[in-house]
Amino acid sequence: MVEQCAPRGASSVLFERARRVIPGGVNSPVRAYQSVGGDPLFIQRGEGAYVFDVEGRRYVDYVASWGPMIVGHCHPKVVEAITRAAQQGTSFGAPTVSEIELAEKIRQAFPMMEQLRMVSSGTEATMSAIRLARAATGRQRIIKFEGCYHGHSDGLLVQAGSGLVKTGVPTSPGVPGAVAELTLTARYNDLDSVRQLMAQWGAEVACIIVEPVAGNMGCVPPVDGFLQGLRQVCDDHGSLLIMDEVMTGFRVAHGGAQQRYGVTGDLVTLGKIIGGGLPVGAFGGRADLMALLAPNGQVYQAGTLSGNPLAMSAGIATLNLIAEEGFYRRLEESAAYLEAGLRSAVAQCSVPTCLQRVGAMFCLYFCEGPVTDFTTARQSSSADFARYFHAMLTQGIYLGPAPLESSFLGAAHSREDLDRTIDAAHRACAALNG
Ligand code: PLP
Repeated sequence: MVEQCAPRGASSVLFERARRVIPGGVNSPVRAYQSVGGDPLFIQRGEGAYVFDVEGRRYVDYVASWGPMIVGHCHPKVVEAITRAAQQGTSFGAPTVSEIELAEKIRQAFPMMEQLRMVSSGTEATMSAIRLARAATGRQRIIKFEGCYHGHSDGLLVQAGSGLVKTGVPTSPGVPGAVAELTLTARYNDLDSVRQLMAQWGAEVACIIVEPVAGNMGCVPPVDGFLQGLRQVCDDHGSLLIMDEVMTGFRVAHGGAQQRYGVTGDLVTLGKIIGGGLPVGAFGGRADLMALLAPNGQVYQAGTLSGNPLAMSAGIATLNLIAEEGFYRRLEESAAYLEAGLRSAVAQCSVPTCLQRVGAMFCLYFCEGPVTDFTTARQSSSADFARYFHAMLTQGIYLGPAPLESSFLGAAHSREDLDRTIDAAHRACAALNG
């Protein structure tokens, strides 16, 4: 559907202009379409389940700002809340009631977050949680999992090399080796790899940080016993477990993956949905740990815009909407319907595919499944994904422009939107075969 007339290629013209002042033309690398080729769409506006590009073309949106937009774009209640907050002032650097309200709502859904602190991004949340874990344990090393992403702070931009029982190598230039060395990397869904690391380094490990459903290598659910095993290993070694629910929080269940899988972290990080589309993160956990934070304790952590009233109001409005009776049941029904339709579409693909879903997040891999870790995720064909991506895009379906990204479904996607998506997938698969 074309809303207004603009010259073709307006996004490409803007991209060229953007590249002159912004590195790569984007403010976050994946937006540049390097994995799929072509120029990124510049988005003009969103409405419900749709985004509209600068040429007025409408797309069914499965990026959802990479997760936050679970109630859809421009939900009237969210817009009203932000507008009301803006009319009272956009930032004070002093306490406001909305910070308490959002913290109380979060704690209701995540009772293990006895206390929590607001920050402005998921990166800040994980970085601060790790600092706290180190301070609480007096230890320096951390364990993360290959293929899990926890934001771009130095110590978390580390992947394992081939050997597991060794210290980390930086994934990015600019990360000091001395910092990376403190990060140990294990294989997702492989408790033995964690136990091996712990056997060698256990007494020095402050925490294990994990995406309880790995959404940064597509959509990889934890195998039975994996999260429980991590809990046990942490308890055995006096290390803390950080559940990074920046993506899964309020998405895979109201109480996130911890509710869904019945395993509780000592510290929890949140972001995305709790900001309702504005920049918010939070970290929290056991009160005795949170008591170590300044001003009560010595662990320093602060932020000029932390608890920003606009961001709090968007978060509160969003959490109110998703607390409505039947919200997650309806979301699950939609997601199951879409999954079934996509399965029937990809069944005709001549190339191997594997569709994985947890609640309202899912990923279509172009390889044999199941995908259980980073090694299997990386077998997905980038070339096949790029062809599928463009075939979907030209039919008005907006997916994340990289092969190992999760797609996000929201409450605004109607049955008609899902049917359009399924029809488009049938045609995209036919195109892949040709
Ligand atoms: N943790 C997880 C699990 C994430 O998915 C992300 C971002 O995608 C982050 C942390 C970092 O959040 P942000 O991009 O808000 O800094």
